[in-house]
Amino acid sequence: MSKFIFVTGGVVSGIGKGISAASIGRLLKDRGLSVFMQKFDPYLNIDPGTMSPYQHGEVFVTRDGAETDLDLGHYERFIDEELTKRASITTGKVYAKIIEKERRGDFNGATVQVIPHITDEIKNAVYKAAEESKADVVITEIGGTVGDIESLPFLEAIRQIHAENKKEDVLFVHTVLVPQIPGSDELKTKPTQHSFKELMSNGIKTNVIIVRSDGKITESIKNKISLFCDVPVDAIVQSENVEFIYEVPLVFHKNGLDNYILRKLDLGNQPESKGEWSKMVERFKTADKPVKIALVGKYVELHDAYLSVQQALLDAGWDNGLMVEIKWINSEELTEENSDEYLSDVDGIIVPGGFGSRGLEGMIEASRYSREHNIPYFGICLGMQIGLIEIARNALGFRDAHTTEVEAKTTYPIIDLMDSQKGIENLGGTLRLGNYDCLLEPDSKVHKLYGEDKIVERHRHRYEFNNKFRSDLRRAGVQFVGINEDLDLVEIIELKDHPYYVACQFHPEFKSRPNRPHPLFVGFVKAAFEKSKAN
Ligand code: GLN
Repeated sequence: MSKFIFVTGGVVSGIGKGISAASIGRLLKDRGLSVFMQKFDPYLNIDPGTMSPYQHGEVFVTRDGAETDLDLGHYERFIDEELTKRASITTGKVYAKIIEKERRGDFNGATVQVIPHITDEIKNAVYKAAEESKADVVITEIGGTVGDIESLPFLEAIRQIHAENKKEDVLFVHTVLVPQIPGSDELKTKPTQHSFKELMSNGIKTNVIIVRSDGKITESIKNKISLFCDVPVDAIVQSENVEFIYEVPLVFHKNGLDNYILRKLDLGNQPESKGEWSKMVERFKTADKPVKIALVGKYVELHDAYLSVQQALLDAGWDNGLMVEIKWINSEELTEENSDEYLSDVDGIIVPGGFGSRGLEGMIEASRYSREHNIPYFGICLGMQIGLIEIARNALGFRDAHTTEVEAKTTYPIIDLMDSQKGIENLGGTLRLGNYDCLLEPDSKVHKLYGEDKIVERHRHRYEFNNKFRSDLRRAGVQFVGINEDLDLVEIIELKDHPYYVACQFHPEFKSRPNRPHPLFVGFVKAAFEKSKAN
């Protein structure tokens, strides 16, 4: 039997509700409990897969191929568990399911309504997650803020879950902002009081309040919140502004939040944390050797579009005593004429995933620059594809080499669609998604880094390297060091006679964890550090 924690947000969005939920997950794991986490997003898209990164930031991919909200990346990094499709529910998914059932005639003549049909489906998503994961605690974050019209069915569903379970099995956590008034420096709790009232009007009385604020939430402010929101003072915790997001669980612990939750959920006397997370954070804080990595992409003004890549770079650095500084370079601005100006001072160049033609030539220029100047290169997904196009163009003289995603009529379709992708019409959910095996070449850099013959990595792309060009590219020094044997697809390449040129078709960033940084990121930042010594 699982216990349930529901995390809602009030006052404003963007105050770290996902990090708070993930931090609670970490705390409970540190107390010896198993945890599953899920996110409910109230929008009508089935998933964020077809949304612009400007709308949504990165699309995170689970091992079973769900395209999800970036908060799932926080969850996996904080709780160090692989989540599944069950971890990501949207209004679109819920309605699609109900409408499909209605068309089949499953409702036996009933009028299909938000309550009970939609709410039942939402509750089912919680109970199914508990049943499948068998976790001691399922933590569910409700996207958006209370008061949003579209969140209402989700709030109603969790109210019902509270009503139909024992009171010690369900806990509500509400995250709020206590703003500081410029000039007077006064902290204002009124928005929190309103948010509490709004939640109450949905039948939900929160047990815990997590407060973000630029000021200090003193005992007297806690007393005031406690009085107006009917929550005990020891269940009001300030999520202080911290240097490392990984400190948040430690801040919560310092404030006694784990003990409070264990008590409220009647989870008895769990062993004290062994303190590994805090040792990790302490170690991260001592990382001081600077390494400068250029991240070249078309959404660089929006760092959230590359959240997991960014985090995997930082984590791999910190874990090895390196302080990675990311130089964000807009690939639309990068040309052969100005690449020296942008790239001559960096120790490594990374080109992450992406879609479409915008900024592609700048990415190609970045990979040329790293190849010709012996700068460590790490290409991820699109970053591998453009790397191979660059080599075909500049080392083999295939002048119009391209990907058919952008140039259908190229003489050299270095990157092309697999047969199984031809004729697919729907964009949503039809990419090559989730886990695929990859066999590593024994005598390769990546084999040494992974220390394994066979790996499993997560994918999210439609196009592949075109095997017709294997022998041409081999002539240019490309080594095909990672292969999916079932589909005969190239998954990793390396370049001979280059200090570190590694590119992969999958997304290693999704499997990187602060406590277990991904081998390809570790190899890359270490190579960049070697380069920095030479710089
Ligand atoms: N647009 C490319 C494809 O679909 C690369 C995708 C990606 O980088 N995630 O294959």
